[in-house]
Amino acid sequence: DDEDANPSVSPQGSVLGSWGNKKWGDTGSYAAKKKHHSWFQSSDGNWELAKILSISGTESLISYSEGKVLKVNSDCLLPANPEILDGVDDLMQLSYLNEPSVLYNLQYRYDRDMIYSKAGPVLVAINPFKKIPLYGNDYIEAYKSKSKDSPHVYAIADTAIREMIRDEVNQSIVISGESGAGKTETAKIAMQYLAALGGGSGIEYEILKTNPILEAFGNAKTSRNNNSSRFGKLIEIHFSETGKISGAQIQTFLLEKSRVVQCTEGERSYHSFYQLCAGAPPPLRALDAVHVSKENQENAFTMLAAVLWLGNVTFSIVDNENHVEPVIDEALLNVSKLIGCEADGLKLALSTRKMKVGNENIVQKLTLSQAIDTRDTLAKSIYSCLFDWLVEQINKSLAAGKCRTGRSISILDIYGFESFDEYIQDGIDWAKMEFEDNQDCLNLFEKVTYDTSGFLEKNRDLLHLDSIKLLSSCTCELPQAFASNMLSSSEKSVLGPLHKSGGADSQKLSVATKFKGQLFQLMQRLESTTPHFIRCIKPNNSQSPGVYHQGLVLQQLRCCGVLEVVRISRSGFPTRLSHQKFARRYGFLLLEHVALQDPLSVSVAILHQFDILPEMYQIGYTKLFFRTGQIGKLEDARNRTL
Ligand code: ADP
Ligand code: MG
Repeated sequence: DDEDANPSVSPQGSVLGSWGNKKWGDTGSYAAKKKHHSWFQSSDGNWELAKILSISGTESLISYSEGKVLKVNSDCLLPANPEILDGVDDLMQLSYLNEPSVLYNLQYRYDRDMIYSKAGPVLVAINPFKKIPLYGNDYIEAYKSKSKDSPHVYAIADTAIREMIRDEVNQSIVISGESGAGKTETAKIAMQYLAALGGGSGIEYEILKTNPILEAFGNAKTSRNNNSSRFGKLIEIHFSETGKISGAQIQTFLLEKSRVVQCTEGERSYHSFYQLCAGAPPPLRALDAVHVSKENQENAFTMLAAVLWLGNVTFSIVDNENHVEPVIDEALLNVSKLIGCEADGLKLALSTRKMKVGNENIVQKLTLSQAIDTRDTLAKSIYSCLFDWLVEQINKSLAAGKCRTGRSISILDIYGFESFDEYIQDGIDWAKMEFEDNQDCLNLFEKVTYDTSGFLEKNRDLLHLDSIKLLSSCTCELPQAFASNMLSSSEKSVLGPLHKSGGADSQKLSVATKFKGQLFQLMQRLESTTPHFIRCIKPNNSQSPGVYHQGLVLQQLRCCGVLEVVRISRSGFPTRLSHQKFARRYGFLLLEHVALQDPLSVSVAILHQFDILPEMYQIGYTKLFFRTGQIGKLEDARNRTL
């Protein structure tokens, strides 16, 4: 437990330190007083509200839960807020900001269907797992006209639009949270608002219609979420100078390919397969909306069917060395017909591998597990190429004929980001997740030790050259396009061509490198934007309405440092800059040259040179925090010099 791990939490709320739960009122250490309302932790771990009846020595006699009386160590009590603060819409307003007070406040609101709360600058959204009447045109109008200002995704989207126009700066809405917490729904709600305010040309409907298409191909039922996105998504919505939507671009990240060929019991593969099996599915016919030609729609469904049939291809042993060949049956014949190749060619690609040994080309026969692997990898590759191709078609449609002159708002809904959470507590500033510093975030990634077996195993996606050649020899258009994409991306790969028969290590690297490359691009793109944060919280693991598990909520609040943010915002140091950013911006003002030093040293030297009083700033692990007005001095000096 980290409660006592960091006793350095100072009464005025130093920015360093951990949760400092025990001493974490703004008044410092809490002195229990008779009649006070306090929190105490019952044996089941939940916090309960209690009233102090009397105090003797270090012990307090408390009453709780309709008349139960208990003697507890006073140190175990945490102060509760006065009733008048029940359900405040910004946690900043709480007098006591300890964990139980925050949990109680969020629960109080949640019980009344007020699922949105502010934690300083961050919007906290607790998944209601039921329809709540907070959306639609009336609400959009109310937020637009500012007749409503309670915390809401609409309010965040509204601020983003206004700041984009006012400051002429691109904006981003970064949505994080565990699987099933509500990220994708929240992203859609934000898009709804932007579409309503920036709509008019009709393109907004096209943008909204991309959601069901991508969900059909990239979402699946998992144990945590019946409609879980198995890819990350950044949608950049472009606006003209007058604030009207002019187009959009979608970037996707790391589709979970393994789900095409395997999934855990109780989970499912991508919706698209089931929809295809159930007959021409409406969300797929939505493809009309993004101007995919009938012929291309047909091609896409053909690929989907090929992947399905590929899963039915079986093998039989053909010699006494356990080598196998695919059984020539309906499945194999259908696959070859659907992708447009000879059945023999497919058979060969699934049962042999050409290799170069010295100067000689040899043909190696495959064992059952190798053959299954080859088959599955082919299926995964076709599916992920199909997904990328779809995104490309959508992007073409959303960008068609529109020039990009204005500004943009990006919405980031990225699955798997929760994997990072556990590393954040480890002395790593929450603010890192603000993408303010590429390098740090990349370092963070390299610090990361995944449950590598599962993660990498699941992402084995090394398609052999034989399979790529097979695809490129197909008479159908899409397999050919897929093959040439794979070849060109493998040539670009830092690690050398995909088809080099690399061992497990190079496969691992290629997944990690790809992920890192994508993250890097993502952060580059977001770095220049003004970010707005929405943190989604899952209140229970059973996707049930009205159930609020304190422990689960607390764990998520701790993970992302929501409360640190509130505390910092409240402590009166509202200006935050990373050491790097600060050093970059003001470093050149230094009289003595410390250019080669690390950003922190440069920052400290700047603070000294400009006589910024120690009480006017705090130095965090990665950031500097300033009281209002302090940066002005430095900005003045900067402007005079430039
Ligand atoms: P994530 O993308 O974080 O994995 P989703 O956005 O898919 O989670 O949400 C999971 C489920 O939770 C949704 O399918 C929906 O049933 C429910 N849900 C999420 N947000 C809301 C909301 N604002 N109102 C009603 N239900 C919601
Ligand atoms: Mg999702």
